[in-house]
Amino acid sequence: MTQKLKILLAASEVYPYAKTGGLADIAGSLPKALKLLGHDIRVIMPKHKCVAQCPLGIRPMGLDVTIPIGGTFKNGFLYTGNLDGDIPVYFVGNESYFSRDPIYGTRHGDYPDNAERFIFFCRSVLEVCKSIRFQPDIIHCNDWQTALIPTYLKTIYAKDKWFKSTRTVFSIHNLGYQGNFPSSELKTAGLPFSIFTPQGVEFYNHFSFLKSALVHADLLTTVSPTYAKEIQTKAFGFKMDGVLRKRSKDLVGILNGVDYQEWNPASDPSIEKNFTPENVAGKLACKRKLADLFSLKIEDDTPILSMVTRLSSQKGIDLVIDILGDLLSEGMAFVLLGSGDSMYEDYFLKTSKRLPARIGVRIGFDEKLAHQILAGSDILLMPSQYEPCGLTQMYSLKYGTVPVVRSVGGLADSIKEFNLKTSKGTGFKFKKFTPDHLHKAVQKALSVYRKKNQWQKLILNDMNADFGWDRAAKKYCQLFQRVLKK
Ligand code: ADP
Repeated sequence: MTQKLKILLAASEVYPYAKTGGLADIAGSLPKALKLLGHDIRVIMPKHKCVAQCPLGIRPMGLDVTIPIGGTFKNGFLYTGNLDGDIPVYFVGNESYFSRDPIYGTRHGDYPDNAERFIFFCRSVLEVCKSIRFQPDIIHCNDWQTALIPTYLKTIYAKDKWFKSTRTVFSIHNLGYQGNFPSSELKTAGLPFSIFTPQGVEFYNHFSFLKSALVHADLLTTVSPTYAKEIQTKAFGFKMDGVLRKRSKDLVGILNGVDYQEWNPASDPSIEKNFTPENVAGKLACKRKLADLFSLKIEDDTPILSMVTRLSSQKGIDLVIDILGDLLSEGMAFVLLGSGDSMYEDYFLKTSKRLPARIGVRIGFDEKLAHQILAGSDILLMPSQYEPCGLTQMYSLKYGTVPVVRSVGGLADSIKEFNLKTSKGTGFKFKKFTPDHLHKAVQKALSVYRKKNQWQKLILNDMNADFGWDRAAKKYCQLFQRVLKK
C-alpha cells in the first residue's frame, strides 16, 4: 500500500442496515475490502426507519448538524454503528425525512419530497465531516441520492478549508435512476442558479442530481467495464451519453465484487444444507426444500428456473412472461421472488395461482428466501434490457445455479458461455432482446442439464469462479490515488 487514505463512502442504502437492491450490497461490502487494504474507511447513510431493526444496532452520538433548506433550517441527529466490528458507520437522523418505510416511495410512486430529503442528506454529509472532525481524502458518492455532494464542494464549499484536499469519486450504479426535479429545487438546495445551464446541472429543463455529479465529481466510476462503454452510447445513455462522452477519460468501469462471507453455500446459515465444490450433495437438499417452500409438485430432476429481482421492465420480465408457458410445457418449474411494478406483481401472483404445482411466486423483499432460491434452483434467469453489473448472477454462480443472461453490461463481463467441447464456461448468454433468443438460451441450458456429467462440470466451473472483492478494491484504491494527484 502506498498511502493510507481517509475515505468516506456515502450511500442511501447499506447492507445490512437498509437494502432495496445491489447498491446496498456494494456499500456494505466494499468498505470491508478497503479496510483489509489498510485504509481508514467510514460510511454514512440516512437513518431510515428500517435501520433501527438491524441486529447490528446503533447508538446516538449526541451530535447534530443544522442544514439550511429553502428558507429555513433543519436538524440532523447523528447516530453511529459498526460494520464488521470496526468500520464506523454514521447515520443522519431526521424523523420527518427518513423515518419511512419503504425508503424511496410507495407502490404508487416516489415520495414527493425526495429532492428535499436527499438535498438534506448530501449537505449533512459535509457538515458531519466537520462535526466529527474527519477530513476525508476521498468522498465516494453512490447514485443520485448522494450526487449533490460533489456539487456542494465545487460551489458553496469551494473555499472551505476543511475540504481543501478532499476529492470526490462518483459511482453510477444505474443510470436509469437520475433524480430529476423541478429547477425550483436549486433554491431548496441553496445552490446558485448560475449552474442551471446545459453545461451544468440542467437536464431538459429539470435540475438533475445525477447530471450534477457527472459534471462536478473529480472522477466517475461505474460498476462494470462493459457498462462504462455502453452508457456513452445513445442506446444505453438515458440521454446522459453526451455528458459521459465528455468525461470519457474520467470514467472507469470496475466490476463489483461479491461478499463471500454473506454469499457462500459452504457456510450460509439460511439454506437447508451447506455444500461445497468438493461435496455438492447438499444442493439437492436445498432444491427439495425450495420445492417444499413453494409447494411445487416436481421430481428431483425437474429443472427449477428462478429469478430474484426487482420487478421492473429493466430486468427483462416481459421476455420471461412471454415464454413462461413454453418453459412449463417443456417440463420446467419456475420460482420467483420479487417486488416492484404492480402490473408484474399481479401477473405472477395470478399465474402461480393458476399453476401452483409448477410456479412458485413470492412478492416482497425477503433476504433469507433469496439465499434459499439461489441455493435450491438449477438455472437463474437474468434477461435484462440493461444491467450495470448485476450481483445476483455472481451469487448464483457460487451456489452452482447456472445463469442464463442477456449479454449486456456486467452480465457480459461476468458470465462466460459454456462450451460443450472444452467444458469451459459458466453459463448461457444471448444478445438480442427478444423472447425467442431468451428461449433458445434456456433450451441450450436445458440440453446440458440433461447431460448429467456435463452439468456437473458446469456447476463446478460456476462454484469455483472467483468474484471476491480483493481485485476490485485494489482498483478503487488505484483510482483514489489517481484522483488525489489531480
Ligand atoms: P439491482 O441492484 O439492479 O436490483 P442486482 O442484481 O445488482 O440488481 O442486485 C440485487 C440485489 O437485491 C441482490 O442482492 C438480490 O439478491 C437482492 N434482491 C432483489 N430483489 C429481492 C427480493 N425481492 N428479495 C430479496 N432480495 C432481493
